[in-house]
Amino acid sequence: MSSASTPHPDWSTSGFSTRAIHAGQDPDAATGAVVPPIYQVSTYKQDGVGGLRSGYEYSRSANPTRTALEEALGAVETPAGAAQARGFAFASGLAAEDTLLRATLRPGDHVLVPDDAYGGTYRLVARVFGPWGIEHTAVDLTDLDAVRAAVQPGRTKVLWVETPTNPLLGISDIAALAQIAHEHGATLVVDNTFATPYLQQPLGLDADVVVHSTTKYIGGHSDVVGGALVVADGAELPGDLLSPAGTRGLADAVGFHQNSSGAVAGPFDAWLTLRGLKTLAVRMDRHSANAAAVAEFLEAHPAVTQVVYPGLASHPGHELATRQMRGFGGMVSFRAGSEEKALAVCARTQVFTLAESLGGVESLIEHPGRMTHASVAGSALEVPDDLVRLSVGIEDAADLIADLTRALA
Ligand SMILES: *Cc1c(COP(=O)(O)O)cnc(C)c1O
Repeated sequence: MSSASTPHPDWSTSGFSTRAIHAGQDPDAATGAVVPPIYQVSTYKQDGVGGLRSGYEYSRSANPTRTALEEALGAVETPAGAAQARGFAFASGLAAEDTLLRATLRPGDHVLVPDDAYGGTYRLVARVFGPWGIEHTAVDLTDLDAVRAAVQPGRTKVLWVETPTNPLLGISDIAALAQIAHEHGATLVVDNTFATPYLQQPLGLDADVVVHSTTKYIGGHSDVVGGALVVADGAELPGDLLSPAGTRGLADAVGFHQNSSGAVAGPFDAWLTLRGLKTLAVRMDRHSANAAAVAEFLEAHPAVTQVVYPGLASHPGHELATRQMRGFGGMVSFRAGSEEKALAVCARTQVFTLAESLGGVESLIEHPGRMTHASVAGSALEVPDDLVRLSVGIEDAADLIADLTRALA
């Protein structure tokens, strides 16, 4: 794939928000436009055969708006002082995951997935890759001995991590899991959708690659579906696999598969996602503060039997989350005592909108058992039927608490 980057200042010593706002986003050389324009274009004039301007040839391979997003995503997932990670933008989170699994696995290989993985990830691994000869084991990632026992030496090529998980907000130890994966030559993948790079930087904890559904917090406004992979500098393919270019580089293989399968982010989607990314830090601070206030309110409420939020001292992963994350994020789950009561709360809120998805500025409420997690009923991933999941938005906390007070009455 052609890498079509324009020269830009070195943002590697800058803080998170400076990178989010500037990396890959220099003012347009021709016009001075201060944000990257939407290059709604499929092909590019060549100055003589093969004479590409800035490397652009065809927009599946590279498009300037997508390049801006990919560079920015690489920059925000790069830990302080590390060499710049490589970002790739896709049409959805699952398209990103599909590309990564194709790049790293071959028939006969084995994958470890969290026993409370995002349902779409589980479906992709079990029902799309299963018939192509990939086996999987679902394991509790908070139990490192169980993870060690589930590894099949020589066959396990990918260890898939989510932390926090959805909807039970389990916290697992990325650095410890990376060590287990690397002892076996496996790739350590972290789905960083819930935490975002602002709250958690897996590549600094030895993960090889980060996955995002940018549909969620990075986009942040419930107006675009997208996904991303960010590959650590120097990360290699699992086992003794070679990329189609004959190298060991994971980024080389991902780039090849991105172009070969073509599930890329379109220019307008890339532009919207980039616009969301610029405000990620301020939004996550507010999401986290509001979620903490909501979690404390719920924990004191007599109609609520359990609150699950990594910021609460009552959460079993609280100490690990404190070490591993900058803040605890905007997702809160709670148990209402019965399915009937859970459904009633979901039906009665007025500020919280009843809807799937998460990570937007507006607060959402849902019943995982009947909605996002209906497809995993009866499997190891089944969730309690009295569970309610909140995506706490950035409205005024007092209005959110008043809404829940009414709905729980
Ligand atoms: C939504 C989500 C995905 C899938 O992303 P899409 O953009 O919906 O394809 C993957 N992982 C997590 C944790 C998610 O929340």
